[in-house]
Amino acid sequence: MLIVMYHNATQTDVDAITRIVAEMGFRAEPIPGSERTAIGVLGNHGYVDDSKILELPGVQRVIHVSKPYKLVSRDFHPDDTIVDVAGIKVGQGCRPVVVGGPCAVESKDQIIKTALFVKKCGADMLRGGAFKPRTGPHTFQGLREEGLKLLAIAGKESGLPIVTEIMSPDNVGLVAEYADLLQVGARNMQNFDLLRELGRIRKPVLLKRGMCATVEEFLAAAEYILAEGNSQVILCERGIRTFETATRNTLDLSIVPLIKEMSHLPIMVDPSHATGKRSLVSPMAKAALVAGADGVLIEVHPEPEKALSDGPQSLTFPGFEQMMNEIGQLTMFLQSR
Ligand code: PEP
Ligand code: MN
Repeated sequence: MLIVMYHNATQTDVDAITRIVAEMGFRAEPIPGSERTAIGVLGNHGYVDDSKILELPGVQRVIHVSKPYKLVSRDFHPDDTIVDVAGIKVGQGCRPVVVGGPCAVESKDQIIKTALFVKKCGADMLRGGAFKPRTGPHTFQGLREEGLKLLAIAGKESGLPIVTEIMSPDNVGLVAEYADLLQVGARNMQNFDLLRELGRIRKPVLLKRGMCATVEEFLAAAEYILAEGNSQVILCERGIRTFETATRNTLDLSIVPLIKEMSHLPIMVDPSHATGKRSLVSPMAKAALVAGADGVLIEVHPEPEKALSDGPQSLTFPGFEQMMNEIGQLTMFLQSR
């Protein structure tokens, strides 16, 4: 439930409502906004009788929220959330960010070379998996803690913040020591214990859309993180599974403007996993930015033909450089309109 206050409501009015909501057994969360003040009611599992609340001074109206998410919704939080990743701002109105790097950290030479190259081309953050969620157990599973250490070296040498995946609630402390942005992969979007644990830390989280998740399920997953107190969440569309087999997944770009209507959280797009095909990555990265994405996540490898995972979708260094030049031109074009 959301209690919307009149513009002239006083702090005393807000305090009185907070007290009464607590007496009803729920938690009240005042939500100051540029347009209005509202009070979110949390902790109820069903309809709440609003007759007592509607009589209170300062109350304009009550909105009953039946969706499985509240804190991530625009109803509860009309203003855009800007996520701060080690000083880099991500969200509506900020310059879109580019996160570049290999699918997996494979060696010191590979990750440092890539970090320095993507930085030179203008990338804002370095990605690289140390804990890899592979479809089968007989493939490369990542260098784990050793991979995190190599990412830290590459981050330091390039000056780029680190984005890396976290797979298990048990590893949140370890990964948070190294990562500036903790990625939840598509396969773990509904790992609720992991989401809860990430809600208790004070580092930003990149939540990827599950490959079979609806938009409502995606937002409900983000709600788990916000419900534990961490509102620094960036959503990421990475393609969904459809009947189409010509691409690895189907990039659902229409959710970018849709999520902006439904939620205040930033949304990025990963055209690498969405398409699975190197030649499609740059066109879909540009399309994502035109659709309003707050950033793109791009796999790039010094020698994609030798990559231990996701080589076919990884850009080569010249391919990444060209994409960055095209993104630069596109940004200038959009700003001139
Ligand atoms: C990744 O980014 O390396 C990854 C495994 O992506 P996804 O979870 O989207 O498949
Ligand atoms: Mn990958």
